[in-house]
Amino acid sequence: MNEQVEELDPFKISQKQLYNASKLIGLDENIYKALSEPEKIITIKITMKMDNGEIKTFKGFRCQYNSARGPMKGGIRWHPDENESLVKALSAWMTWKCACVSIPLGGAKGGIICNPKELSENELQKLARNYIRKLSGDVGPNIDVPAPDVYTNPQIMAWMMDEYETIIGEHAPSVITGKPVELGGSEGRGVATAKGGNYCIREAAKDIGLDLKDAKVIIQGYGNAGSYAASLLHNEYGCRIIGISDSKGAVFNKEGIEPLKALEHKQKTSSVVGLDGTQQLTNEELLELECDVLIPAALENVITKKNAGSIKAKIVAELANGPTTPDADEILYKNGVIVIPDFLCNAGGVSVSYFEMVQGYYLHFWSEKEVFASLDKIMTKAYRDTVNKAKEYNTNNRMGAYIIAIERVVNAMKLRGWI
Ligand code: GLU
Repeated sequence: MNEQVEELDPFKISQKQLYNASKLIGLDENIYKALSEPEKIITIKITMKMDNGEIKTFKGFRCQYNSARGPMKGGIRWHPDENESLVKALSAWMTWKCACVSIPLGGAKGGIICNPKELSENELQKLARNYIRKLSGDVGPNIDVPAPDVYTNPQIMAWMMDEYETIIGEHAPSVITGKPVELGGSEGRGVATAKGGNYCIREAAKDIGLDLKDAKVIIQGYGNAGSYAASLLHNEYGCRIIGISDSKGAVFNKEGIEPLKALEHKQKTSSVVGLDGTQQLTNEELLELECDVLIPAALENVITKKNAGSIKAKIVAELANGPTTPDADEILYKNGVIVIPDFLCNAGGVSVSYFEMVQGYYLHFWSEKEVFASLDKIMTKAYRDTVNKAKEYNTNNRMGAYIIAIERVVNAMKLRGWI
């Protein structure tokens, strides 16, 4: 590869991160090889009749990365830019995520190449049912448990659960998580990713003596996770949200943006752009503004070697999966920026998904208070473990989190007699 060109392929990036962490702990080369590829990749084709009678074919995937620690777990993304490399990378990150926060699950990820914004309700339902029908032998409460991700939601999970239960002829709520609460979803699942990230931010702020009251926060990506993070940081810790963005652009107000007003504006106009009392910026400009906490909460590769040196935040809390490239990681570490790495920072979602699976097995449901108390415990411990591991190996937090995760997955593989 040309030295000048930064690697942006998500799966190659995930392999590079794994390789770097493996080197730090002197992992056997053949064990690295075993960890660097998924167990199984399923590619499917969904052909269906659209509302206007037109026949359309969609391509979908499910990648099952590693099952040593338990049933595999991971969301389903519906996006026009979905592709096999991305699904593979995301399934690897799910494996490290579940291991890092120590929930007894492996990692997987799925996706369909489509633009759900252009589909009717009826077409969305057809697509969801078709997807699960094609995968019905490969998913299940003790095999692989899907969940929402970019552009999928509780309603889509409900259709998928219903289709699966129809096929097997019995109830099986733990086949999927992120369901509506009325159908066995967990209290708190909707806000869980943001909530988990905020517990990490609270801990990181403690470590550097940053008072979160009036701390300046920027959120790149005002979707589900980003908008909940803004409201919770504002309401619970008194943070000042000074900038937010979505795919159409960014807005800034140094006096602070009211998170709920921004959400209402986005729901009405489909973008945060044009929000009253704000100045418009590009997404690139937003990332480089002076602030205390920067939260990338959208897609991959937004902090690269091009802009990492210009990031002024004290803490970068990665609610998105894969927002920072390995080259950018080195620059941030050198500049003393505290990075809360993606598969730690956004593990609140899958942690509450795990609670949802447990509640589904028992048909016994917890209050929101119980869910958040358990989540706080898991996230705080994982954050502390990560920081300590990074210190032990004199490396950055991402490598610290990888080392914890690799050790747990390798240990499970050894105990099973796989290696
Ligand atoms: N899609 C979320 C993630 O990337 C949640 C996965 C899950 O709950 O299984 O972590």
